[in-house]
Amino acid sequence: MSAVAKIWIDGKFYEKADAKISVFDHGLLYGDGVFEGIRAYNGRIFRLSQHIDRLYASARAIALQIWLTKAEMTALCEECIRINELHDAYIRLVVTRGVGDLGLDPRKCAKAGIICIADKIALFPAALYERGLVMMTAATPVHHREGVSPRIKSLNYLAHILAKIEAVAAGADEALMLEAGGGVAEGVGENVFALHGKVLLTPPAFAGILRGITLDAVWEIASAAGYQIREESLTRYDLYTADEVFLTGTAAEIVGVVKLDGRVIGTGVVGPVTKELAAKFKQLTTP
Ligand code: PMP
Repeated sequence: MSAVAKIWIDGKFYEKADAKISVFDHGLLYGDGVFEGIRAYNGRIFRLSQHIDRLYASARAIALQIWLTKAEMTALCEECIRINELHDAYIRLVVTRGVGDLGLDPRKCAKAGIICIADKIALFPAALYERGLVMMTAATPVHHREGVSPRIKSLNYLAHILAKIEAVAAGADEALMLEAGGGVAEGVGENVFALHGKVLLTPPAFAGILRGITLDAVWEIASAAGYQIREESLTRYDLYTADEVFLTGTAAEIVGVVKLDGRVIGTGVVGPVTKELAAKFKQLTTP
């Protein structure tokens, strides 16, 4: 983080060491809240309006009232990277139910807590983008879609963290998560694509995924480059037999997968289409 690290909480900027919230905040006590992870490239925030829309949709889905307008939230993100003198940045917006008591009744929380952090992020080391990820399927599934819908970017990431713990324990770089029915869902913080010939397949929103903003960008880039893209229910078979597999996400960007559950994907190296789309994504983010 830059030397002037300033974090915005509920209307004021604080130095990093002083940026603290109450232990009675229901975001901490119950994971009661929503968030966004957003990137800025060269001082320009990538697809900010989509992130803001998703944040407000997540909040609406958990009946959480955000006391900033979308325009104010947008301005806050801009201000946060400006004040921290960041050009390439990762912005974390968090909205919690706010400070309540030790019961879980959300009516005790008078006002949502809003936090904006601007920092840097490197999800995987650079060498992994060259080599490609080794993945394994986690036994922990994503949330059931009629439970905490995976479409809500909520503060409940425990299932995804458990999946990551499984992957790390097995010596893999990342976990593939399934939905409870056994279909392919997503990575722990990324969406997944499988290339078969000129067709890119990705699981549909009802398969228990967070609908990624990077997924949408890749969709646009890939269709402009002549690939067909289809949302289809996938099983692991569709990944094992793919020519290429890659993950997409704000933090991960585009990263190839070379092995899944001990099966070599395609030729075992990051494939040409993954590389082509990653290069085009870079042009899109940093023109
Ligand atoms: N799935 C999950 C569970 C995630 O946390 C993320 C990261 N936000 C994604 C997918 C990818 O979404 P995006 O491209 O919008 O970052």
